[in-house]
Order: sequence, then structure tokens, then C-alpha cells
Amino acid sequence: MRKPMMAGNWKMNKTFSEAQELAKAINGAVEPYNNVDRVICPSFVALPGVAWALSGGELLLGAQNVHWAESGAYTGEVSISMLKGMVTHVIIGHSERRQYFGETDEGVNKKAKALLAAGMTPIICCGETLEQNQAGETSSFVSGQVKAALAGMSADDVVKCVLAYEPIWAIGTGLAATAQQAQDICGGVVRAAVAADFGSAVAEQVVVLYGGSTNEKNITEIMQQPDIDGALIGGAALKVDAYASMVQQTSELYR
Ligand code: PEP
Repeated sequence: MRKPMMAGNWKMNKTFSEAQELAKAINGAVEPYNNVDRVICPSFVALPGVAWALSGGELLLGAQNVHWAESGAYTGEVSISMLKGMVTHVIIGHSERRQYFGETDEGVNKKAKALLAAGMTPIICCGETLEQNQAGETSSFVSGQVKAALAGMSADDVVKCVLAYEPIWAIGTGLAATAQQAQDICGGVVRAAVAADFGSAVAEQVVVLYGGSTNEKNITEIMQQPDIDGALIGGAALKVDAYASMVQQTSELYR
């Protein structure tokens, strides 16, 4: 059975000390729900402090980006070996990185492969714009993103990836996809794209998240969908009570 995941993307929020305080508060609030993978992804600079503040706890730590190269002349970038030992998960291909920083499908594929080679879990984001959605292009676009991200991987590696479907029109807007819309794409497009390239047995093992304006009010309905194994959470992940409630509701659904 796929283990559910509630992954919090803190984006460019919280100072070094604020991040430690938030992480400690979240850690205390979500501790009992260990049938859910609870991942928080602070900024790069906050990571060491948060890792130290959480040492011995069960919260998993993730980064919001990484470079695929081992080291070298890439000013401003962070390598996998710099993160290894501190984080277990890395978000790659978030729509904000694709939109504002030119991240491409090819780069996402390189990052995913490099992370897997280092024994880390890529959380690979995909999702369409409002215009693509309205033009009826969601399935072909999202399917293309998933296939490009996984291109050239072995089946063993594919099952270690986490795929996050995040329609751009739902991110930070308060307009979440309906649970049915999210299910249709997570199952009928994202998991189906994995099945098409790697077979249905592989697709059945891959953890698929939905992201886009999830919160403590809509999470149960979203998590009741058969092809949705968790959420990639932005705004609500910065609120201890909201995030803890989302973890708790998910935990109860999986008991
Ligand atoms: C996100 O940025 O990945 C996200 C889903 O944000 P929000 O939950 O705030 O829509």
C-alpha cells in the first residue's frame, strides 16, 4: 500500500530563527500521526537550523530545489552532496521555478536522476496553466511533463519518485481543484502516463500528490480519492494548526 504524504513547501518564507520555531511547533503537533509521511521544505538557509532543531524527531526534511551537477561553477546553486544527510526529499520542477527561473523538463529529468542516484526522493511537480486548462490541453501537457521527467529511468527508480500534480491556476489562489478534478488528473493522466511508459504495476506503486489551495477544510475529500496519496501544501503548511489538522485527517483516513 502507498504511504500517504503531507509535504509542506514553505517557499521563500521564514527567517532562520522563525523557521526553527515553526518546525518545532509542527513537530510537536504532528508527532502522533506516523502512518503519514510528514515532510517540511524550508528555504536552503533555514535547513541546517531546522535539521538541528528537529534532530531525533520524525518530521522529514526536504529542499525546494537542487542542482544536478556534483559541484562546480554554478554561482548561487546548491548541490545534492550539500543537502545529503540533511534532507531526504527535494521538490523539483515547481511551477514557480519553471515560470520565474526557466526550469525545463530536461532539467527536471536531470535533477530527478541525480537525486535518485544519491538515494534521495524527488518530488516532481507538474501542472497546467489556466489557459491550457481552458483550451482543453491539460491531459496532453501534464502527461508530457510526467513522461519527460521520468524519461530514461528504470522501473525501480520510478517507484521511488513522488509525483505532484499542481494546476497552476489553483496554487495560492484559494481556488482548489475539486476533489473529482484532482482525481481525474492524478489518476487518469499522471498515473496513466507512468503506466503507459513503465506498466501498471509500477504506476500503482508511485505516490501521487495533489497541490493547489489545499487546507484543513478540503483535505479529507481530496484524500478520499483513490489516486491521490497526499498533498503538496503551500500556504497552509505555514500554519501549525492547519497543517497538523491535514496530517491528522489523513492519518485517520488510513487507519
Ligand atoms: C504550492 O506552492 O505548491 C502550493 C500548492 O501552494 P498553495 O497550497 O498555497 O496553493
